[in-house]
Amino acid sequence: MSTPSTTPAPVLVLVPGATGAPADGGPRFHLADATVPQLSVTDLVATRGDGVFETIGAFDGRPVNVGPHLERLARSASMIDLPAPDLTTLAEAVDAAITAHDPVAELSVRVMLTRGIEGADLPTCWIHARVSDDWSPYRAGMRVAVLERGLSTAIADTSPWLLPGAKTLSYAVNMAAVREAKRRGAADVLFLASDGYVLEGPTSTLLVRRDGEFLTTPVSAGVLAGTSVTSLSSWLAAQEGAGVREQLLTVADVAGSDGAWLLSSTRLAAPITHLDEVELPVDHELTARFEQVLTGRA
Ligand code: PLP
Repeated sequence: MSTPSTTPAPVLVLVPGATGAPADGGPRFHLADATVPQLSVTDLVATRGDGVFETIGAFDGRPVNVGPHLERLARSASMIDLPAPDLTTLAEAVDAAITAHDPVAELSVRVMLTRGIEGADLPTCWIHARVSDDWSPYRAGMRVAVLERGLSTAIADTSPWLLPGAKTLSYAVNMAAVREAKRRGAADVLFLASDGYVLEGPTSTLLVRRDGEFLTTPVSAGVLAGTSVTSLSSWLAAQEGAGVREQLLTVADVAGSDGAWLLSSTRLAAPITHLDEVELPVDHELTARFEQVLTGRA
């Protein structure tokens, strides 16, 4: 497929040294052609979705929260018994990908670590940098559908093999949920646990403003520990004396709140205008300040 001439070409960095020195004595990472197939059909990520990943946002060439993203990648890897990635190598490879890309306002940098080719017992790792999707309609405000996740907030205790909190490459369910939301006339999803508490979006963290406080779902409920919500929490703590507090919330709590957002590293802060049919207040000025924080400009 050819890339439209107006969109700068994506950059691919292969990282054979992601979990140790490459067997062939070659470099730990190197640029590769992003326009030709590079992945084996027997890589276990292709046959089983068996791997972990991160998506890092880079704004005007500066990546945000590289350390926290790579540390989370290492935690996810450990949860699926992959060898520990070498975070120094990965950080250098992320920088190399951004440097090799044409300068753009918003870059999405994916770091992928898979179980590797069947039988080889060696993870596959690559970094793919491309112009970010256009998230501006989401950042202006979006309708969100509440969809049942079918799992309780006790999942970490009852069924850790479901990998709550790991950013694995088995995202087909998450993507199916977004398609269902679109069928319902919404742009995105807020997952609901079987015990009545809201969780997170398929690719985002919930932030709620309620009675002068900022709240998010506890990580112990089985959601991903978001880097964006952590950044906002530190900023809010410095600005207002209190960061984001973890609390289990119901749909009614969110619907009756003073505002809610879905947060992620590339989408930034997307205010929820409607939760199913209930309209929520939107603070565009605060959303713009959140955006400054999440792009590393505040
Ligand atoms: N929750 C899930 C399931 C995600 O996939 C993501 C990011 O893609 C997030 C939350 C937000 O994480 P971050 O703020 O670190 O991008």
